[in-house]
Amino acid sequence: MSGVKEAVAPLSLTSHPLQRAGAWAVAVLADRPAPQGATSGDLDAVVSRLVADVVNAASAGKGTAAYDWWKVLFALYPNSKATHSKRSRDRAVLEVSIAEMFAPELAGEPERPCTFCGAAATAVWAKSTLPLFDTNKALNTLPPGVPGWPVCRGCRIAMWALPYGAWVTVGSATVLSCEVGAAEREFAERNVRNAQRVMQLGFGGLPPGARAEQVAAHALRSLQPLLPAAATLWSFKNDNQDPWLRVTQTRRAVPLFLARVDGNAELRLGWLLLQRSLTRRDKNGQVTTSGPAEAARLLFEAEDGRSRSLISQLHYLLQDPDRAWRARDRAALSRLAFTYAEEVLGMKTDLKPVATVIADWIEHGSGSPRGRLAEYRSVALNDYRLGALLLQAHFRLTLDGREVGAQPQHWEPLIQQRPRAWEQRMLLAAHVLELLRERGVAVNDKAEEEVDDPVEQLLQKSVFDDEMGPA
Ligand SMILES: [Zn+2]
Repeated sequence: MSGVKEAVAPLSLTSHPLQRAGAWAVAVLADRPAPQGATSGDLDAVVSRLVADVVNAASAGKGTAAYDWWKVLFALYPNSKATHSKRSRDRAVLEVSIAEMFAPELAGEPERPCTFCGAAATAVWAKSTLPLFDTNKALNTLPPGVPGWPVCRGCRIAMWALPYGAWVTVGSATVLSCEVGAAEREFAERNVRNAQRVMQLGFGGLPPGARAEQVAAHALRSLQPLLPAAATLWSFKNDNQDPWLRVTQTRRAVPLFLARVDGNAELRLGWLLLQRSLTRRDKNGQVTTSGPAEAARLLFEAEDGRSRSLISQLHYLLQDPDRAWRARDRAALSRLAFTYAEEVLGMKTDLKPVATVIADWIEHGSGSPRGRLAEYRSVALNDYRLGALLLQAHFRLTLDGREVGAQPQHWEPLIQQRPRAWEQRMLLAAHVLELLRERGVAVNDKAEEEVDDPVEQLLQKSVFDDEMGPA
């Protein structure tokens, strides 16, 4: 078979995360509900736009906003016709050479199945035009002696629409893959808007500290109907020398958790306090680290297990001796930790019996409650030392004739060295502080009337719906 082919669906949505992100970007740019609905005419229109933007970026002077888009292209396609240091600066010449990349399949050329979608392809591409291909750190490695990867027109366009559908920074791009396509589309839509801002205003046009995780959390939050859906963020740089790929994931229950937070005033307050605690400003008051972005980041877990967890961040906030919380703020942060543990991590341990033993001991043991609370704090996260303290509390309370409700099966998950026991101990500490607060035992909290702040107004709207416009 040869000749210029009119494919049935000129663009497919494949399982490759980069092709997928690019295909969604094409759908958004063409205003189609899904990539498979894009027509050849749509693809021609997207190509015109891609070529115009690439030519603008490749011929832009250093320091201009348009040059920022060139940096994005450089991070993705470092040796391409658009980014090579020896590229022509003549716009007409550039335009022809860039447009060639997206030409229809050539008549008479040998056809091979497209690497991504299997459609007949005559063009063969490699690393300079395909991010993360053909390097030793790649998702895909080319066998020796093979000239490149066959890529059909739809997938070639998708792989260059990729920076529109990805979250981009000066030196990296991040794409989202999700079990539910609507979240991928939402992620692409926001990024297409951000791409326009970067092209017009440069990276200065984006809010300071904004991150891919925030855009992804928003996309997961806005799923209609609400469904459990795991999501993966793939961040990468297609560097000549040192390409890298970093993968983080959310658990399936995260969309439900986010919706629950948004629909519940106490959890919303907890999330807002978490966001605020993570915001950093320079000495002029300008945001340097965005709290909403950092909070969203805690929903994503790194493959190597080295990411910070939401539970540990909340634990740190609740136990920080330099912070005084209002009772309702402490309760909101604790509730957020419990809800995440139960709904997202699936923890079902009943912590109340052991928390009661510790709270009883702090309240009624010998010496001052403040001293015993400090003693508990110092051992709270250590399996062995916590076990020793529990034993001591148990004896003390029994000798004093108090009833001790906790049984060995309640202790067991808290004093063992096993996965998630660490988080269980953190949650136990939050429980203990909750009980002490309920009983009116002083734990260094603020009086309710001490604080008046704009938190009430902020709570009126969704804590995830921060439009990523200029700050
Ligand atoms: Zn293809």
